[in-house]
Amino acid sequence: MNPFSYARPQQVDEAIRLFQPDSRYIAGGTNLLDLMKENVERPTQLIDITRLPLRGIEETAEGGLLIGALVSNSDLAWHPAVEERYPLLSQAILAGASAQLRNMASTGGNLLQRTRCYYFYDSTTPCNKREPGSGCGAREGLNRMHAILGHSEHCIAVHPSDMCIALAALNATVHVQGPQGERRLPMSGFHRLPGDHPERDNNLLDGELITAVELPAEDYSSHSAYLKVRDRASYAFAIVSVAAALDFDGDTIRSARLALGGVAHKPWRDPQAEAALVGKKADESAFDAAADILLHGAVGFDHNTFKIDLARRAIVRALSDSAKGAAR
Ligand code: SF4
Repeated sequence: MNPFSYARPQQVDEAIRLFQPDSRYIAGGTNLLDLMKENVERPTQLIDITRLPLRGIEETAEGGLLIGALVSNSDLAWHPAVEERYPLLSQAILAGASAQLRNMASTGGNLLQRTRCYYFYDSTTPCNKREPGSGCGAREGLNRMHAILGHSEHCIAVHPSDMCIALAALNATVHVQGPQGERRLPMSGFHRLPGDHPERDNNLLDGELITAVELPAEDYSSHSAYLKVRDRASYAFAIVSVAAALDFDGDTIRSARLALGGVAHKPWRDPQAEAALVGKKADESAFDAAADILLHGAVGFDHNTFKIDLARRAIVRALSDSAKGAAR
């Protein structure tokens, strides 16, 4: 491990002032420390943000929920307001990692976790995300867990979070603060597709710190489901996951939300797939049609083409589960 300095500011402004080009903010450290041990991340300074006042969960004036960036994944999943009003988010968080990791991992850190592509962590292999211009070991290698949507010739990695898939479906907004002031980014615009710059996972600017995540007041609490397909029943990343939420007018779908995980460099949504469900009865033909739209353009590689059909079935099942009611 490389030498680095360590600072532990008490306020957000102070943390941002301390930031240098090779600094990293650290909270739970559940991903960053692994990356440092593997020599993938080599910060010259760690800015420990665990003393910042970002641990609150409070209702907004608009009736939504503002979640501090340092709220642990466990506290968020089990918070009464989240369980009651956003069960999709609770379900997704509890599908991820292990109890110990969820106790350490923060809300902001969950958004920033990096891909689990094996080649990214193995510094003896080429990887454009770790070392731009070196190539992509996964394209011709072991790519069973990799992307089927939104990939580029430079990178076929997937975003690993479960929580972010639910946040995307719920139209969350990310609050950030940096040297240029405060900004808000919609979840749909927070993470990036790899394109020509797979080294960049998201649209944060240098030194920007996530301060909170805001959930809108919209109510999908009665009909939602998070379905995660994985190799083991726990402590495994998604091969495919689906966050689905429906709102009904009688037995007709009034609005729908649908996001896919494990298939792309960011949570995958298509407003047209959701619009196609509006005004329909909650049946398999409507769900099949939405799946077709959401998976339009999907292309697999040697070991992961099976994910296209798996994703189609998972979408239909998650929507069917959602129509039956929310798991609590
Ligand atoms: Fe690196 Fe992306 Fe290729 Fe994985 S898929 S080896 S992260 S460039």
